[in-house]
Amino acid sequence: MSDKFTFHTDSAEDTECLGERIGAVLEPGIVLALMGDLGAGKTTLTKGIARGLEVSDLIHSPTFNLIHEHFGRIPVYHFDLYRLTTPAELEDLGYEDYFYSEGTAIIEWPEKILELLPPDHIEIRITESNGRTIEVTATGPSSAKLLKKL
Ligand code: ADP
Ligand code: MG
Repeated sequence: MSDKFTFHTDSAEDTECLGERIGAVLEPGIVLALMGDLGAGKTTLTKGIARGLEVSDLIHSPTFNLIHEHFGRIPVYHFDLYRLTTPAELEDLGYEDYFYSEGTAIIEWPEKILELLPPDHIEIRITESNGRTIEVTATGPSSAKLLKKL
């Protein structure tokens, strides 16, 4: 099963609002893979998602840590893999505990660990195009079910 939705945002605040809608429907065990170049808006979208998940502390960027943990209505694991050199580094971190958990994992630069992504996840691809084009794709049944609630 695969479902795809395409959005367009004209400002960072627009992108945060879309993130908030996504965050509001997120469920435990869902992994979000945020693809896009440096400055595309991955962290901006994450801020909105965190707001939708009722996280009250700040989402940081850039970060020297691979993972930041936040507490909203469910735990939020924010990964920024920009500085990751090899997927083995993430395996050392025990990524399964975060990807297959009672929380939700939001991953910037998932391109670096494609082989470790759960087969059923939400892919979000952000591209610059007179604003931003944001393509949200479900790659399996759980993520497809969730996107229908958007
Ligand atoms: P990334 O995490 O992908 O590297 P950031 O979210 O940190 O990107 O930065 C995106 C930058 O682009 C911010 O400075 C933001 O204000 C700006 N921006 C301009 N328009 C948009 C938009 N429509 N959506 C998201 N960010 C935007
Ligand atoms: Mg970022």
